[in-house]
Amino acid sequence: MISLYAGPSKPPSVHEYMKDVVEEFKRLTKEGLYFNEKHYSVPLPDAFICDAPARAFLKCIKGHSGYSSCEPCVQPGVHLKGKIVYPDMEAALRTDAQFDEMLDEEHHRDMSPLRELGVGLVTSFVLDYMHLVCLGIVRKLVSLWVKGPLTCRISSSVLSVVSENLKRLRQNLPRNFSRKPRSLYEYSQWKATEFRQFLLYTGPVVLFKALPKCVYNNFLVLSVAIRILLSPELCSDYCDYAEKLLKFFVTNFAKIYGSEFLVYNTHGLIHLAQDARKYGALDSVLCFPFENYLGHLKRMVRRPQNPVEQIVRRVDEKQTFNRDSKGSSALEEHLKQPHFSGPTPPGFSTCTQFKQCQYKGMTISCSPGNNCFEINSRVALVRNLLVSSMTDIFAVCEFFNTGTCFFDYPVASSSLGITVVSALTGQFFVVPVAQLSKKLVLLPMTDVYVALPQLHDY
Ligand SMILES: [Zn+2]
Repeated sequence: MISLYAGPSKPPSVHEYMKDVVEEFKRLTKEGLYFNEKHYSVPLPDAFICDAPARAFLKCIKGHSGYSSCEPCVQPGVHLKGKIVYPDMEAALRTDAQFDEMLDEEHHRDMSPLRELGVGLVTSFVLDYMHLVCLGIVRKLVSLWVKGPLTCRISSSVLSVVSENLKRLRQNLPRNFSRKPRSLYEYSQWKATEFRQFLLYTGPVVLFKALPKCVYNNFLVLSVAIRILLSPELCSDYCDYAEKLLKFFVTNFAKIYGSEFLVYNTHGLIHLAQDARKYGALDSVLCFPFENYLGHLKRMVRRPQNPVEQIVRRVDEKQTFNRDSKGSSALEEHLKQPHFSGPTPPGFSTCTQFKQCQYKGMTISCSPGNNCFEINSRVALVRNLLVSSMTDIFAVCEFFNTGTCFFDYPVASSSLGITVVSALTGQFFVVPVAQLSKKLVLLPMTDVYVALPQLHDY
């Protein structure tokens, strides 16, 4: 935490609100910082990560419900059925220089105090995918299916089946996923991570054959595009492809649900790949950790008076405590649930057996949710964890028979590492746990399983 503000309302003046930060940054970037007699240079901020209202506040631009509010492109927008919509997919992009000159008078309200820092006021402000995708388009899609116009709605019998199937997947999701699937009828209470889970993992499985084909395919295009932009391996090679998919998604979204839904949020999707091109996989520039930390700070306030003082005192206490307490990294603490029930392949019969371990921050377990990994391009389940000495941990694994594609539209799912598997081979083999780096989410679907690479650990 660098600084903290509290007041009865949003700050009335951005110039006053940002004054100290701007002055301090100007000094630090010029003079650097001395700490423990060592000099550090301080670079300009690389990215500004905030939701749309906060971006509009800091940049002094029009709010997102008005004309000319798209931050990356210059289209003014058109009025349609009571909303401002942005139908143009190829409008010219704004540049930092144009922004500094305030050339588009319809876009600006005032001159931003951040201009003094010399940061790119277009390119350094990322479109946060948590609000744009999870709480934006995914929530919109679910709301259209549950209570949208009759042309978009899904029948209540299908909604019930999908909701039941969603709830049935609870035990198959990684233990670290703090939110487990809930019924579609409860979508208005879903948190951002639940919409993300639905888009990337559970949605493609529970909606399969439940939605009309064009509606399912449209959802799948969004799911694939966001999966690419969130995966560090896929993002660098397929960023351009993800951008094309998102434009294709938005075009078809308007055809299926109506052009009046091409509002700021939906349109913004076509610009997401630009941020990934600059910053890498979108997880490096997203609101989740900050929102989580803000929630954590808010819970530190016990009385209504002097909230800032209370938080500063508690954060300080915590930092002092963390400095004084010594962490233990003994291997035994990372191994849990000792047992004697095997399997122990030949040559490993003298090993100590466990059902769960923590390895490099990852939970590896013999139970559903944390037991599926990709090894040598095949899907395997962990059956036992063995320790031969206190330095080596091995996993006894069992392969599934070779998988097949789950979908082939808009791209073969196997190219994203997503496959359908059914029968296990019945043969055990032993690998060091260091080889279990690619964790999979394994979800049952009728008589097969869909294995999807796990992109998050929360
Ligand atoms: Zn735009």
